[in-house]
Amino acid sequence: MPKKLDFEAKYHASAAKPFDQKNEMFKRARREPEMKEILSRVTGELPLNGRNGATRELAALRNAAWTLESGYARGIATNNFGLYSWREATRGISVLPDAAKFDPSDPARNARIVKKAAKTFGADLVGICKLDRRWIYSSGYNTIELKEYDIAVPEECEYAIVMAFEMDYESMKHSPMIPGGVTTGFNYSRMAFTTGTMGQFVRHLGFTSIPCGNDTALNVPMAIEAGLGELGRNGILITQEFGPRVRLAKIFTNLPMACDEPIQFGVDKFCEVCKLCATHCPSRSIPDGPKTTSGHNKSNNDGPLKWYVNGETCYQFWGRNRCDCSVCIRVCPFNKPKGLLHSAARWFIEKIPALNKAMLKGDALFGYGRLKPAEKFWEDE
Ligand code: SF4
Ligand code: SF4
Repeated sequence: MPKKLDFEAKYHASAAKPFDQKNEMFKRARREPEMKEILSRVTGELPLNGRNGATRELAALRNAAWTLESGYARGIATNNFGLYSWREATRGISVLPDAAKFDPSDPARNARIVKKAAKTFGADLVGICKLDRRWIYSSGYNTIELKEYDIAVPEECEYAIVMAFEMDYESMKHSPMIPGGVTTGFNYSRMAFTTGTMGQFVRHLGFTSIPCGNDTALNVPMAIEAGLGELGRNGILITQEFGPRVRLAKIFTNLPMACDEPIQFGVDKFCEVCKLCATHCPSRSIPDGPKTTSGHNKSNNDGPLKWYVNGETCYQFWGRNRCDCSVCIRVCPFNKPKGLLHSAARWFIEKIPALNKAMLKGDALFGYGRLKPAEKFWEDE
C-alpha cells in the first residue's frame, strides 16, 4: 500500500483559486486573434507526408478515433451535452419499480458498486473523493458558440467519482507523430462512452449525476484527491499503474460513498533527478528547475507549489507539428506496460529513492521512451 499524501501541505493547495476556463490554452486558441493561425495549423487541412508522418490512412484513423467525443459528447468544447448531459438522456431497457429503491445507507458498499460499474463500462482506474469546489471553473467557455457560460454544479453533489483511461502504450511510442494522436482521440471517445453510461447508472440508482470530461472542473487535482496518483514535473497525473499515460473524466453526485485518500509513491523525488520530460520537450515548455508558486502566463493557475508548464510554447509546437504532442508522456520512465520488471522498478522508486539515478540509467539502457517512426504503426501487434 502506498503512503498517504498530505495534499494540502504538499502542493500548497490552499493557495489555489478557481480557474477561469477561457484562459485554458485550447479556449484561448479559439478566442484570441493572435492564436488563430496556430489553431488553423492544428485543426485545419492536414498536409500528408510531412514530418509528423501523416498519411491518408493514419489521418483517417486519428479522425475516426474522435468520433464519440466530437459527435456525441463534446466535452472539450462545452459541458452538459450528449453523453455528458446532466439530465436523463435515455429511458433504459426497462422501467425500474419505485418500490425497490436503492438503499444508500452503506457508503463502503456504494463505493464498491460504483467502482465495479465504472470498470464494467470501461474505466481502467476509479477513485472517489469529496467534491472539492476549488477545482470547479469560475466560468466555462463554449468553443462552438464562442461564449462564456455559468457553471452551477447542484449543491447536493458532495462526491466525485474520478476515472482514468489508459492510452495505448504502443501507439504512444510514436508521439509527436500522428499515431500518438490516435490513442489520445480514442480515449477521449472511450471516456465519453464510459462517463455517459456511468452517469446513467447513477441516475437509475436514484441520484443526481453530473458527468464531465475535461469540462466543468480541473481533472488533475481531483484525481490526486481521489487517490489515483501524484503530479509529475510534466504537469500530468502520474498513476502507479500506467504512469502519465491516462486520460481523466469524472462524475459529481449526491450518492454517499466511502472516499479514497491521496497517495504518494515516490514521484516527486524521482522527478527531481529525472527531468527527461523537460529535456525532450520539443518546445522546452517544462521547467528543469525547482517547483514554483507561479507560472508563465494566464493559462497557468498560479498559487499551488508545483512545476508549471508553459501552455503557450507547448501549443506553438503543436502548430508547427500540425498534430498534438505527448512526448512528455512517451519519455516518462513511469510510462511502462504492466510487467514484473516494471513492478519491481516502481517498488524501488517508492522504497529506495537513493537508487533513482541508477533506475534512470537502466531506463536509457533498455531504450525506453525512444520515438518509433509513424510508418511502423501498422506493424504494431
Ligand atoms: S505536449 Fe509536447 S510540447 Fe507540450 S509540454 Fe509536452 S512534450 Fe512539450
Ligand atoms: S519524465 Fe521524469 S521528470 Fe518528467 S514527469 Fe516523468 S518522472 Fe517526472
